Amino acid sequence: MLNCFITESSASIIPLNLVLQTEYAAWLAKQDPFIKHWLDSTGFRNDAGSVAMIPNATGQLSTVICCVKAMTDFWSVGSLPFLLPSGCYRLNVTDSQFAIAWGLGSYQYTRYKKSLKKPAQLLVESDLDYVTNIVESIYLVRDLINTPTDDMGPSELADAAVALAKPFNAVVKQIVGEDLLKENYASIYTVGRACDDAPRLIDLRWGDKKHPKVTLVGKGVCFDTGGLNIKVAGGMTLMKKDMGGAAHVLGLARMIMEAKLPIQLRVLIPAVENSVSGNAYRPGDVITSRKGLTIEVGNTDAEGRVVLADALTEAASENPELLIDIATLTGAARVALGTELPAMFTNDEKLAADITAYGVQEQDPVWRLPLFALYRDALNSSIADINNNTADGYAGAITAALFLKEFVPNEMSWVHFDLMAWNVKARPGRPQGGEAMGVRGLFSYLNARYKK
Ligand SMILES: [Zn+2]
Repeated sequence: MLNCFITESSASIIPLNLVLQTEYAAWLAKQDPFIKHWLDSTGFRNDAGSVAMIPNATGQLSTVICCVKAMTDFWSVGSLPFLLPSGCYRLNVTDSQFAIAWGLGSYQYTRYKKSLKKPAQLLVESDLDYVTNIVESIYLVRDLINTPTDDMGPSELADAAVALAKPFNAVVKQIVGEDLLKENYASIYTVGRACDDAPRLIDLRWGDKKHPKVTLVGKGVCFDTGGLNIKVAGGMTLMKKDMGGAAHVLGLARMIMEAKLPIQLRVLIPAVENSVSGNAYRPGDVITSRKGLTIEVGNTDAEGRVVLADALTEAASENPELLIDIATLTGAARVALGTELPAMFTNDEKLAADITAYGVQEQDPVWRLPLFALYRDALNSSIADINNNTADGYAGAITAALFLKEFVPNEMSWVHFDLMAWNVKARPGRPQGGEAMGVRGLFSYLNARYKK
């Protein structure tokens, strides 16, 4: 079990009480003079997120209170695992969202630097399996993103998929290196061929063939130098996270398999490094994609859509009931919506409404942007069927989504997410670094749609 949780209460457990800001005065009036004096003398104010540690007469911690705006504000406990002294705590709300926020706030990335502090422990009184599934799956996403490329290149990302598959008896196949050309995945091969760690298509399958097919596609650019259109230093700093989409789909797959959702799951990850070398693909080159559409490389730094093109073509060939792709695709999506709000693109109105609603419910929001068809012209090429880049760069997230749309049949229920996969600053429950965004909402949606 995760070291931030316990399941058995004990005499030494410390009550942790959320108090509504608006009810604080009434709450205080009911407390004994000792507590009133303590809160007064320590200058406690009932701001949202304020935490008071209240001792007993012998000086031991006896109660913790935390003021909240609303009793649904589960993120308010997200900073407590490392704020409170080690020990076991019992919350006065048992909603599983609070335990999830606690678990997510207990995350530390310890591969290269030992942690100095253990998280305080929360008593989980209900839905332990569900809570653990969500928290551990998001830890997986964060760990994969946080791992530097030297330890998370295309082959290690494939190893991670194999390791994930094993306990669930999922099957992973890989098409590696020049075999990509033999099997007609030139887009994936061409983008990744300049890297010593060979490009590959990772293909995970799980579930009963009688169940509806859901296919997840994740962008697995393990490092993005930009290629010959090389990025400037600042633009390259975080590029280990350019496989964030792959990490997201593996985390979502883990949630699905752990929960045994009755779906036939397929996960496709084009895993490459966009490197600079003598054999790197060049601006102006033309690639014949799996679908047969020719792609002019306007810019080697718009590589994500190129590798996704072949993966989406393969995904669509099996006609899944639902096709989801997740990618750290464009800086333009961040310009439009900031780093914390993933952009969602789909032509399926009901799907858009449902996923949006589940995102709101889980406080894991996404925001729909349009697949505005008139902008497709910006991707025209004079020598190929499509260019991977637009001349003016306007509406970059939309034109990237329109590029992907070329590789998905019009009638298919398809949704594309363009997201940051990284917390640029820490928020309660969401430490700085790799992050799963929109995945809790998506899982909640899939759960509601498919769970029997
Ligand atoms: Zn790029």
